[in-house]
Amino acid sequence: MLRLPSFRYLQPRTLKQALRMKADAGPSGMYVAGGTDLYPNMKRRHQEPAVVISLARVKGLGRAGGWADGRMSIGAGVTLTALIARGKVASAYPLIRSSALLISTPLLRNMGTLGGNLCLDTRCNYYNQSYEWRKAIDFCMKKDGHICWVAPSSPRCWAVNSSDLAPVMVAIGAEYALVGPKGERVVPAGRFYRNDGINYLSKQPDEILTEVRLPVPSGWSAAYRKLRRRGAFDFPVLGVAACVKWDGNTVADARIVLGAVASHPQEIPDSAQAIIGTSLDDEAIRAAAEAAYRPAKPMDNTDFDLSWRKQMTFEYLKGALVELRASH
Ligand SMILES: Cc1cc2nc3c(=O)[nH]c(=O)nc-3n(C[C@H](O)[C@H](O)[C@H](O)COP(=O)(O)OP(=O)(O)OC[C@H]3O[C@@H](n4cnc5c(N)ncnc54)[C@H](O)[C@@H]3O)c2cc1C
Ligand code: SF4
Repeated sequence: MLRLPSFRYLQPRTLKQALRMKADAGPSGMYVAGGTDLYPNMKRRHQEPAVVISLARVKGLGRAGGWADGRMSIGAGVTLTALIARGKVASAYPLIRSSALLISTPLLRNMGTLGGNLCLDTRCNYYNQSYEWRKAIDFCMKKDGHICWVAPSSPRCWAVNSSDLAPVMVAIGAEYALVGPKGERVVPAGRFYRNDGINYLSKQPDEILTEVRLPVPSGWSAAYRKLRRRGAFDFPVLGVAACVKWDGNTVADARIVLGAVASHPQEIPDSAQAIIGTSLDDEAIRAAAEAAYRPAKPMDNTDFDLSWRKQMTFEYLKGALVELRASH
């Protein structure tokens, strides 16, 4: 049985208290929300914080609401179950609801939060293993070692962003509000992630993700397709998020984002360009799928055969775009 190491557990009630606790703890302090990612990781000694600062009781993080101009904000502390249940989110952004429903299991969704999902640690077959397993291969660059077993001559780690909601938020054009010792800043979701398996977020370790701001949904429709081994629950080994804005029967704008094929949600502008100005006819869909197939470079560090997963990028984007055409 894997056991948690011992640690000090703090429960701040305000953002200010949480930031002060983190400043006092320094690099040995970490935030936790639902703990469905951090605690299993601590059991495997991926992260070993001496101080764990819970955001669960911090005022305001569980709020969600609409603004007068039609935009909406969702607190980072909203659990996935609450996110799915919120009628306003479901009616304005049905894709957020349906994608959240694909995450893990009902019990884990009761604990897991939106913020935790968007800050999820990157994953790799050589990393998501027990301490003893990792020790037996002399560890790897992401934690405790020096080499990358996926690409031994590579100077970087290729662990994969496996969040279901991250590619969706990038495709929707969401913004994230971060609060740190220097105050608040707002970053576009696409700039929150970095294509680096170790330093995968542009967020500073002491910054707290407080809310996700969603643009006015008018005119946009969106789809998300997830490839995983087990239908009941599993991390994505490929996620395809597609958003299109219609002007009559013509695609006026589009955003296509791939999840789980890189250390960040990977935007594919060439796919979007291939459908803008078209009626999403078969030819345009094929061109978009081909444009996504080329830059998608899944590494051999998650489930399934590598080349098959690459091929699935083509098929899954085609499926998502056909779905968007049918629902228009
Ligand atoms: C069996 C299993 C299956 C799973 N399947 C999926 C899946 O299919 N898809 C998927 O996307 N995820 C999956 N997960 C991962 C996880 O359950 C969810 O992503 C969940 O939403 C994580 O949220 P959390 O609040 O529990 O995160 P935590 O574990 O609390 O935190 C995760 C990370 O985010 C940081 N963090 C959390 N909140 C904040 C904040 N507000 N500000 C700054 N940093 C913060 C923490 O410090 C930590 O580094 C699975 C997990 C398990 C155990
Ligand atoms: S990609 Fe390489 S360095 Fe990163 S977790 Fe996997 S084996 Fe380790």
